[in-house]
Amino acid sequence: MITRDQVLAALARVPGPDGVTPLPETGLMSDVAINGDRVYVAIRTEPARAAAMEPLCRAAEQAIAALPGVAGALVALTAEASPGAGGRPAPARAAGHGPGASRAAAGRNRAAVPGVRHIVAVASGKGGVGKSTTACNLALALAGLGLSVGLLDADIYGPSAPRLFGISEKPEMLENRMLKPPVRWGVKVMSIGFLVDPEAAIIWRGPMVMSALQQLLREVVWGDLDVLVVDMPPGTGDAQLTMAQNVPLAGAVIVSTPQDLALIDARRGVAMFDKVDVPVLGVVENMSTFICPACGTRSDIFGHGGARHEAERIGAPFLGEIPLHMTIRETSDAGRPVVISEPEGPHAAAYLSIAKAIASRLAAGASARQAPRIVID
Ligand code: ADP
Repeated sequence: MITRDQVLAALARVPGPDGVTPLPETGLMSDVAINGDRVYVAIRTEPARAAAMEPLCRAAEQAIAALPGVAGALVALTAEASPGAGGRPAPARAAGHGPGASRAAAGRNRAAVPGVRHIVAVASGKGGVGKSTTACNLALALAGLGLSVGLLDADIYGPSAPRLFGISEKPEMLENRMLKPPVRWGVKVMSIGFLVDPEAAIIWRGPMVMSALQQLLREVVWGDLDVLVVDMPPGTGDAQLTMAQNVPLAGAVIVSTPQDLALIDARRGVAMFDKVDVPVLGVVENMSTFICPACGTRSDIFGHGGARHEAERIGAPFLGEIPLHMTIRETSDAGRPVVISEPEGPHAAAYLSIAKAIASRLAAGASARQAPRIVID
């Protein structure tokens, strides 16, 4: 049995287009698809560079083919249309049955959502790092700054906005079949959890993900919004990539805990948004420091400062830290997020400061990247 890790290890010895960065770390590669004794990988490129990339493809194919048990290796080049170009993405080279073929053919629907000025994705490289808690409190903090805000809970694996906002009613369906989102503390909330039973085990296939997302985005009466915060599904798989490709995002906020493993995943998140040309507005370190409620002692359970360091390393802005605190969990569980239940407290202040940084980056309208994208380990 060939494993994905074996393939990635073999490809790590192949330098990417800059001649230095190992191919798997360039952010240009699709996931590895293994079908019996055959391995497929797609590499993204601009059509104009397709010819120059051919030697790289050959080197990658040879590296995979040299693995024991591999009967065939196909490394395909795929090209995607630039955002706003409107055209269908075209394969840069016959991509065979490689995973890139279907991805390229999936196309994009990045048309703006009328009335919505900025759409910001809150994403994480893996689950359980507090992405939804952060998205919810940030949406409320942005509203606290006087902005008109919506929150779209697109976490198909675990929609949590109904719980976090304490909403039990379903959205109203209007005559034109548009959904009217419930409003809590000034924030319009729409959740995939309103449309499907959160307890039901659903296997989300690509087209279902997209139609659900487009419905949440475009068949909801959002009205005029300054910011629509999208709580993305955790991870960097195909569903996430499709979403990132198909929502007209102004930028992405990556939530991570300070642990090394979470940071590696966060790095993948940054690479994913790079891949689809969405500016990373910054990184938030969640569960940063634990302050014992009994004795006030500060301890760094998951380490501390890792996300800041990682953000610097990958050239993304660091937006701030949220401590690990019982109050944040309890208020979330109770459906009264800490920004609302303790607006004068230190946790609300942390979310507000991050919200301000996001708002000013959105106002500046610039890609927040500070450093080159190429990372050399
Ligand atoms: P994700 O969306 O990344 O899966 P959640 O936002 O659902 O994560 O958070 C996972 C759990 O961690 C929840 O029980 C939540 O209340 C808790 N949590 C999130 N952030 C914090 C924090 N800063 N301090 C304490 N608990 C937190």
